[in-house]
Amino acid sequence: MTAQPAADVERMEFQLALRRRGISDQAVLRAMDDVPREHFVAPGFVDSAYADQALPIACGQTISQPFVVAYMTEQLDVEPQHRVLEVGTGSGYQAAILSRLVREVVSIERYRTLAEAARGRLKTLGYANVTVLVGDGMAGAPDLAPFDRIIVTAAAEDIPQALTAQLAEAGKMVLPVGPRHDVQCLVKLSKQPSGELARENLIAVRFVPLLPGQAREL
Ligand code: SAH
Repeated sequence: MTAQPAADVERMEFQLALRRRGISDQAVLRAMDDVPREHFVAPGFVDSAYADQALPIACGQTISQPFVVAYMTEQLDVEPQHRVLEVGTGSGYQAAILSRLVREVVSIERYRTLAEAARGRLKTLGYANVTVLVGDGMAGAPDLAPFDRIIVTAAAEDIPQALTAQLAEAGKMVLPVGPRHDVQCLVKLSKQPSGELARENLIAVRFVPLLPGQAREL
């Protein structure tokens, strides 16, 4: 038997680790396999790209842990015809995963530097159905609403009403809710036929905070 290149072994272990932690949606697993995470991490962290951990990116932010990306994507229950809003583009990794599964992704980032880097990266890698906007994602993207699904990848202290208002009929939203710089609860909201939102508390997570306004710094 010939030895497999280290990179292949790493990618196989990456898939196994996701399955072991309970990710079972085949389309999500395939998307996680398709998107090369090494292109989304900072140059000094390429060797850790397939470790199941969050890693630092520019502007003091982080690219989420792969398990959390896969779990949130699975919980979002996306369908191929969906239009999805992401708040917190960061590296663009979560947006790339979603782009493999839905028709269109709109992603908002408050740091221009991160938004531009993510836009370039997504274009180079061919994820053409993602639009990256610079701005305050807490306000959503009212001009492009409604969205079938909304995912927030920064922790909100309270559920932003502007976002729930932009959910389509039967829409769903997944977001971390809780105090800044502490453990938060991943919450799933599902819009009922009455228009009310059913809330389900999922797992404990730790995200960087959702901050109001576009970042003053680059
Ligand atoms: N989804 C990203 C990880 C995001 S980290 C990835 O896959 O790499 C959270 C990001 O949310 C940070 O980049 C932070 O700048 C951004 N953020 C925080 N508050 C925001 C807001 N109000 N609007 C838009 N982006 C915000």
